[in-house]
Amino acid sequence: MTQVLFPDTLDQAVALLADHPEARPIAGGATLVAMRNAGLVDSSHLISLDRIAGLRGIERLADGRLRVGAMTRHADTAGSDLLTGSLMVVRKAAGMIANKVVRNMGTMGGSVANADPAADYLPALACADAVLSFLGPEGARDVPILDYVQDWYETALEPGEILTAITLPAPEAAASTYRKIARVSGDYATASCAMALTADGQGLRVAIGACGPGPIRDRDAEAALHGHLHDAGAVAEFAAALVALADPVDDVRGSAEYRLALIPRLITLVLAELNPVMEAA
Ligand SMILES: Cc1cc2nc3c(=O)[nH]c(=O)nc-3n(C[C@H](O)[C@H](O)[C@H](O)COP(=O)(O)OP(=O)(O)OC[C@H]3O[C@@H](n4cnc5c(N)ncnc54)[C@H](O)[C@@H]3O)c2cc1C
Repeated sequence: MTQVLFPDTLDQAVALLADHPEARPIAGGATLVAMRNAGLVDSSHLISLDRIAGLRGIERLADGRLRVGAMTRHADTAGSDLLTGSLMVVRKAAGMIANKVVRNMGTMGGSVANADPAADYLPALACADAVLSFLGPEGARDVPILDYVQDWYETALEPGEILTAITLPAPEAAASTYRKIARVSGDYATASCAMALTADGQGLRVAIGACGPGPIRDRDAEAALHGHLHDAGAVAEFAAALVALADPVDDVRGSAEYRLALIPRLITLVLAELNPVMEAA
C-alpha cells in the first residue's frame, strides 16, 4: 500500500524524500497516478507538494522576471495576464495541453520533472530561456532549461531534489507563440514549435519539441538568421540546422521521417503567424 505524506514546508518535503529514498513527490497526480495504475511506479511513499506555501502561482520579481511556482496549474498559466509579449509562448503552450481536466490537475513543475519529450512546456520554456530552481539535501541550485534534459527521460533533477520554481526573463514587447501538430486536439505533440521574435524584431528564438529527448535550439543558427527573417533561403537554412540536430523516434504519433519533415513546415507556419506583427513593428 502506498502512503501519501503531506509536508507543510519544502524543507520537510526534502527531509521526507531523504528518509524514504524510493519515494516520489506528487504534484497534481495527472501523470503519476496513471503511471502507478499501469504498474510503472511502485513507491511505498508519495510526498505531496500540495500543502507547501509559495509553490503555487506566478509572481513578478523586483527585477521584472517572472517566477512560476512549480505547483502552478496549467489552467492558471494559460490564463495569466503576466505572460505577455516574449512570454506569450509559455501561456499558449499551457493552453494547448490536453484538455480542461488535465489543465486543472497538472502543474508546470510536474510536467517539467516528468520530462516527456512530447510535452508542451519544454520547448516553450526553452524558447523563453527559463531557469529551473531545485532544492535537495545538498541545498538549492539553478539549472538553465537548455542544460536540463540530458537524454530520453533523463534530466539534471537528482533523486531527492524538488523542482521548486521556473523563472522566466522579464517579458519583452516582442511577439511569441507556440504551435503543435498532434493527431487529434488535446493529444501530445507529434512535433511542436515555440517561437519568439527578438526585442529588435530582426531575429528569432526557436525551440522544436517532440523531435528528440529534449527541446532543440541552435543559438548559432539564430544568430546567423538575425536580420534575414524575410529571406526564404536563410529561413530554409535555419530550419535545416534544426533538422540536423533532431533525433526523433518512430512512435504511435508519427514516424521519425515525418517528424523531420514537419520541422521546416512548422517553422514557416509559425513565422508566418508572427509576420503581421513584424510588419507592424
Ligand atoms: C490524458 C492526459 C493527456 C495529457 N496530454 C498532455 C499534452 O498534450 N501535453 C503535455 O505537455 N502534457 C500532457 N499531459 C501531461 C500533463 O501535462 C501533466 O500535467 C504532467 O505530466 C505532470 O502532471 P502533474 O503536474 O500532475 O505531476 P504528477 O503526475 O504529480 O508527477 C509527474 C512526475 O513528476 C514528479 N514531480 C512532480 N512535481 C515535481 C516537483 N515539483 N519536483 C520534482 N518532481 C516532481 C513526480 O514524482 C512524477 O514522477 C497529459 C496527461 C494526461 C493524463
